[in-house]
Amino acid sequence: MNEFEQELTQRLDAIREQGLYRELRRINSPQLPHTQVEDATLLNFSSNDYLGLANDPLLKEAAIKGIQRYGAGSGASRLLCGSLAPHHDLEQAIAVFKGAEAALAFSSGYTAALGTICALLDAHDVIILDKGVHACIVDAARLCGAELRVFVHNDPDSLAKILRWADRRNTGLSGKRRPRTLIVTESVFSMEGDFAALRELVELKEKHGAWLMVDEAHATGLYGERRRGLAEEFGLAGQIEVQMGTLGKALGAAGGYICGSRTLMDYLVNRARSFIFSTAPVPAAAAAAAAAIQFVQSEEGQARRNQLWARVDQVKNGLIAAGFVLPPVRSAIIPLMMGDETRAVEAAAALREQGVFIPAIRYPTVARGQARLRLTVSAAHAAADVAQLVAALSNLKPGPEVPSRRA
Ligand SMILES: *Cc1c(COP(=O)(O)O)cnc(C)c1O
Repeated sequence: MNEFEQELTQRLDAIREQGLYRELRRINSPQLPHTQVEDATLLNFSSNDYLGLANDPLLKEAAIKGIQRYGAGSGASRLLCGSLAPHHDLEQAIAVFKGAEAALAFSSGYTAALGTICALLDAHDVIILDKGVHACIVDAARLCGAELRVFVHNDPDSLAKILRWADRRNTGLSGKRRPRTLIVTESVFSMEGDFAALRELVELKEKHGAWLMVDEAHATGLYGERRRGLAEEFGLAGQIEVQMGTLGKALGAAGGYICGSRTLMDYLVNRARSFIFSTAPVPAAAAAAAAAIQFVQSEEGQARRNQLWARVDQVKNGLIAAGFVLPPVRSAIIPLMMGDETRAVEAAAALREQGVFIPAIRYPTVARGQARLRLTVSAAHAAADVAQLVAALSNLKPGPEVPSRRA
């Protein structure tokens, strides 16, 4: 073994010793409630395909039409010669759906966060994150070079304190332009399923003249009368400078988006490096996402969302009857806290043996010692699937292995 291989093998051993080793599992079927994982068929409670759209004929047909009309590849970056009609149609659809002036599509939510935050801020500025935000926002915050502060998860008092510090810091600075402060939060948190205190965040950012960016990755398609997201549910969409989301979760396709003012989109086309220096998404992805957005806005989309909430209620009632203590909010993401990393991995393995697939979520996705099973519910699940899930989880030993369960 050469030195390079030796070094990496040692690093991997250290990851294994901490119970943090990860590996890919080959899925031999589409995203379905009963998924072909390696050589077993498992009941899948791990997908973010909340509305069951990833394998919907509507999206598949739209993707096929997109390919037939515009080809398999997009040829270049949007600014070079890859700004195909399906991307423009998708952005128009996103803007109408979200009730925003304009939208811009990225190849993923990750690159949307990276490109947007780095376009808005540099070392002159301050960025303030909720402790629970997704890795793409943390990475963007580091990359942009702004002074980074983190507030206690969902604690507006903690944010207020940092904003007062930022005001003092920014007034003391001189330079080519006024230093800015950007607050970034998720609306529904990906690993907790809980809601950001958006009303308090909007009040605080207005009081301090800061900007607010809200990641609706786990809320788009699910919340609000028109299923625009949690900002709509709270009636606050018009007061948020930057809204982002993904097309790959409830919307069943792939890609990311930013929406807000036309000026913001014009600025990002000029300054978001992950948009400028990357090949445009394939026409199939844009066409599928646009079809999903049409679906979500329809009466059928509303029925599908209601179906999801019915399943979520069923799962929660079953688990509460089995002695689990669950968060009170209505969310498709239900965390079952395990604490120790190894315990979480063992619980996931025990569930797999009973034919149920729920992943163990560990550091660095969540903090060390806060490992959990992340259970996600889809509108595509049947009542019998929920019964099987509850039975399998009830067989997990209560006590220290399952702290979220009453002994
Ligand atoms: C998944 C996710 C993203 C990234 O979106 P992709 O389209 O998968 O790159 C961003 N933010 C949150 C909160 C997410 O859960």
